[in-house]
Amino acid sequence: MRRISIFGATGSIGQSTIDLIRRDKDQYDVVALTGGANMAQLAADAVEFNAEVAVTAFDDKLPELRDALRNSGVEAASGTRALEEAASRPVDWLMSAIVGAAGLKPGLIALEQGATLALANKESLVTAGPLLMQAAQQHGAKIIPVDSEHSAVFQALNGEDISTVERVILTASGGAFRDWTLEQMAQATAKQAMQHPNWSMGARITIDSASMFNKALEVLEAKEFFDLKPEQVEVLVHPESLVHALVGFCDGGMMAHVGAPDMRHAIGYALNWPKRRPLPVPMLDLATQGQLSFYAPNLTNYPALRLAQSVMKRGGLSGAVFNAAKERALDHFMAGRIGFCDMSANVEAVLEGITGSSSLIDAEVTLDNVQHIDRIARESVDARVFNSDAQQKV
Ligand code: NAD
Ligand code: MG
Repeated sequence: MRRISIFGATGSIGQSTIDLIRRDKDQYDVVALTGGANMAQLAADAVEFNAEVAVTAFDDKLPELRDALRNSGVEAASGTRALEEAASRPVDWLMSAIVGAAGLKPGLIALEQGATLALANKESLVTAGPLLMQAAQQHGAKIIPVDSEHSAVFQALNGEDISTVERVILTASGGAFRDWTLEQMAQATAKQAMQHPNWSMGARITIDSASMFNKALEVLEAKEFFDLKPEQVEVLVHPESLVHALVGFCDGGMMAHVGAPDMRHAIGYALNWPKRRPLPVPMLDLATQGQLSFYAPNLTNYPALRLAQSVMKRGGLSGAVFNAAKERALDHFMAGRIGFCDMSANVEAVLEGITGSSSLIDAEVTLDNVQHIDRIARESVDARVFNSDAQQKV
């Protein structure tokens, strides 16, 4: 039996992970399941898999969780400390699928206990790449990427020498507004941004796909995980979402990873690694598909991609600033306080402000420094949004 934990179990990735382990229940000993607001789901899964502990991130949800777990034998807990304690319980494999920077510390703790970390939480590598990679190395732990593009690159690199890689190309579906003009996007609502053409995902990453902030984060994630130079990471729009990434080698050859847009492939690959096992994903019929198309992204419509380039070049803690500013701008967009295009304008202004004025940007990438600069970035976005003078400048 493999001991496993799922962080962010109630979300889109978490539920797909549960779908996979449910098919081979006798092989897994579930230690911890965590969630945010959906206590009914969290409790039902914890009871079904007889988990040791179920943790909600939010203290005000604990009474509801306790109620739902009464007489089940599953421990109930809440809050940041409880999440960290759950991450320290020994496991062979831990799924990191909390959304946002809140996923960083539990993942780090899992690496420190030597667990294999299935990493869906891209924010971990964007904000603290060197910290994560060092922790894995120091503790003999392995990180297996779960983001579909990074899983694709990881698979394309099987048996290859990373020093022979010329570049990595991440594909982007183009999200909900692929064919929209900038003027149309400026008027877009959160509801419209939540309509993804190809993938079914959590609300936040779906909106990030429409703005291409998701792809921008993935560019940074790829640089950190595969130790690439900024000029080695490219993005191509690929509306069919069947080729997830391509790796170009120094001899002109390219390896493309092709598969249905179903996250259970990347999750299952990370779960079964280093083996491949059958997965409940659709097998592609390329003859019916007919054609695959690719084109370069429009950087005017998607400033997030341009910002990712400057963050890659700037390095240091600029990834933590970029991510935190993006998370907070997204909160404000979802709350109807700013427009769709104001998200990138705010992120750019805050990024420029902090990288230009704070020496902290070049401080060592430690958890404390990441969390400190994360707070500064969020406060800077708030100051811009809530201050009308500042808003006019956006
Ligand atoms: P989701 O919103 O569906 O689920 C997020 C999970 O995190 C839920 O369990 C939620 O309760 C929990 N959560 C939310 N806020 C929290 C907090 N402050 N503290 C602790 N837990 C909290 O998100 P998702 O789409 O499953 O994405 C999860 C992560 O995986 C994200 O980092 C996302 O970028 C990444 N990812 C998702 C997909 C996808 O297809 N959904 C693909 C690639 C990468
Ligand atoms: Mg992805």
